[in-house]
Amino acid sequence: MIGALEAGGTKMVCAIFSNEGELIERVSYPTETPKDVMPKIIDFFKGFPELKAIGVGSFGPIGVNKDIGTFGYITTTPKLAWQHFNLYGTLKDALNLPIAWTTDVNAAAYGELRQGAAQDVKNCIYLTVGTGVGGGVVVNENVVEGFAHPETGHMLLRKHEDDYYEGFCPFHDNCVESLAAGPAIEGRWGKKAIELADQAEVWELEADYLAQALYNYYVTLSSERFILGGGVMKQSQLFPLIREKFEQLNNGYLELPALDSFIVPPLLGDNAGITGCYELAKDLLEEAVEN
Ligand code: ADP
Ligand code: ZN
Repeated sequence: MIGALEAGGTKMVCAIFSNEGELIERVSYPTETPKDVMPKIIDFFKGFPELKAIGVGSFGPIGVNKDIGTFGYITTTPKLAWQHFNLYGTLKDALNLPIAWTTDVNAAAYGELRQGAAQDVKNCIYLTVGTGVGGGVVVNENVVEGFAHPETGHMLLRKHEDDYYEGFCPFHDNCVESLAAGPAIEGRWGKKAIELADQAEVWELEADYLAQALYNYYVTLSSERFILGGGVMKQSQLFPLIREKFEQLNNGYLELPALDSFIVPPLLGDNAGITGCYELAKDLLEEAVEN
């Protein structure tokens, strides 16, 4: 058996998969504080003595670089109770199993690559546009990590000349999150995004910002698929608008994949994260056997 933990800002999803990848059990606990929730998570996994490994995809920022002291920690999150909490180390000490460790969105991107909307390619980006904007990056079938991990939601954008909204990211006036996450839509237009569904100018501007972000990722990484999820993307009229604006930004320069199958919604829905965690933990076990 293989365990999966998708550690999210609001809930912690714990799952058990068979070695073959069948989902056997899935529970979730409110994220609350480490003191409240860590014992529940640990007890849950201890209930399955046949576990061979666990994959963890965590909200962040997190430390992913083994050469740096913050490896395994949730670092500068605005959630005070979780700041500088050693999530990886706590699980490792309690469960003594191999643990694959990456961001929640890297896990979701990898889940979609292995079993979802990017099964037929090797390079994808999964972007969630919700309360914030976060993205996971897979290049040549590997999740991308370096000194830190990609923070695609904080890519800086060219602000529209008629947009007077000041942005809500505490660090950047004009990053993707600041200008295009759900709270930015609400802050700019004075109503919740869902109540603005029939206001064309809202989605024109939203698509403009998201297309800028995707185009910048594309010229950097040559991604073969962009998978866009999260609450805001429930406005499915965004997809054709983003594709159109992406093509305009390209301005005939680069060859592009067929746009309808290039910028798409997720296939795995709420299971993208845990599926990716399962796949990463399975890879970890396979690597251990090979070495
Ligand atoms: P989170 O990012 O917290 O995990 P969501 O992905 O559901 O959660 O994102 C919540 C954000 O998405 C809120 O800002 C909300 O206004 C917006 N949202 C949720 N549902 C819709 C919808 N149907 N249409 C547009 N925006 C939505
Ligand atoms: Zn930012």
